[in-house]
Amino acid sequence: MFKKEMTSQEEHYEQLLGLSGAWKVSAVMLDLAAKRVEVEIGFDLSQSMVCPECGKDCAHYDHRDMREWRHLDTMQFETILRCEVPRCNCPEHGVKTLRVPWAGKGSRFTLLFESFAIEVLQACSSVKAAAELMRLNWHQVNQIKQRAVARGLERRESSPIKHLGIDEKSFRRGHNYVSLLTDLERSRVLDVVEGRDGAACDKLLGTLTAEQLKDVEAIAMDMWRAYIKAAVEHLPDADIVHDRFHISKHLNEAIDKVRRQEHKALSKEKDGTLKNSKYIWLTGFENLTEEMKVRFNELQSLGLKVGRAYAIKETFDNFWDYYYLGCARKFFKKWYGWARRSKLEPVKRVAKMIKEHFENIITYLKHRISNAATEGFNGVIQSIKANARGFRNFENYRVAILFQCGKLDLKP
Ligand SMILES: [Zn+2]
Repeated sequence: MFKKEMTSQEEHYEQLLGLSGAWKVSAVMLDLAAKRVEVEIGFDLSQSMVCPECGKDCAHYDHRDMREWRHLDTMQFETILRCEVPRCNCPEHGVKTLRVPWAGKGSRFTLLFESFAIEVLQACSSVKAAAELMRLNWHQVNQIKQRAVARGLERRESSPIKHLGIDEKSFRRGHNYVSLLTDLERSRVLDVVEGRDGAACDKLLGTLTAEQLKDVEAIAMDMWRAYIKAAVEHLPDADIVHDRFHISKHLNEAIDKVRRQEHKALSKEKDGTLKNSKYIWLTGFENLTEEMKVRFNELQSLGLKVGRAYAIKETFDNFWDYYYLGCARKFFKKWYGWARRSKLEPVKRVAKMIKEHFENIITYLKHRISNAATEGFNGVIQSIKANARGFRNFENYRVAILFQCGKLDLKP
């Protein structure tokens, strides 16, 4: 049963804010025109105050100027807490501002508002929409994210990580890259650094403890020299697993080169056989429409070079399904011979690259990892880039990625 009790507006807000002890709501002011509620909080000086450093009882010294904190709206009215926070004089630590129970240090928002903002920001795909909904500007959103990510990183335990991924993403237009370190098992971004050279890798892997580095069993990556070198140095006991999707991409690029060359040659004979066929060759057969499947079969019966390049690539795809290393090696040897004799230069080049890196490709069969998880972050990262007013500041970009993809404990 509800007990009907007349409480004043001040008491009502005190309860809503969960204030107790010496902190009291001294006034509630409602500004109808501005759609704003101001809640003034005072400190009962007859009660004891404690030093924020050591927690000992101290004497009152003075108070700070009036400060404001944005709180959760009250019935769509913007709600602001105001307080002249007292300062105490600790014999040991000197004059200190008391810690307020409703907000974190240095924040202009109450803890409840920050928690709410974090939830909205994580749920909204558009930062702009989330910010408008909460009537915050970009700068305020960024500050909330920064504090949240700092909290999350602080709290993150250095537990063992079995499978790592390292991958590059473009950052700004032109050749500007960032490198991402991911925990593939828990599909989370561990950190982001600028660049994709050795120094960038050192920095990334340096974020893990020596113990964590020792526990890593395998790291997925592209065939990028700086990444390989860093893995060999920092993770001498871990297997390198070159990413199967990157290898597929290289093979697809080879098919496309063959197609373009052949289309050019055919066009000279006024033959449009390969016109508008790019999609057909780069999409898996099962993903084609019925109409395209018919055309694909027709094209495949013409003994074209691109058809052969396609068959070579398609055959290689079987490699990923092998269980036994010996069988996989035999398969690859046969495949490699075929590709090398194909007289298709782009295919031969990729085959050679695969052979050179083969010992770090066959490791896939043991660990079955790829950077597909990181690729999964692409959409999120794309929208981060689209939402940002040109991330001139790398640190803001990093924070935004860790906020969305770091699986961090962000709440105050
Ligand atoms: Zn003290």
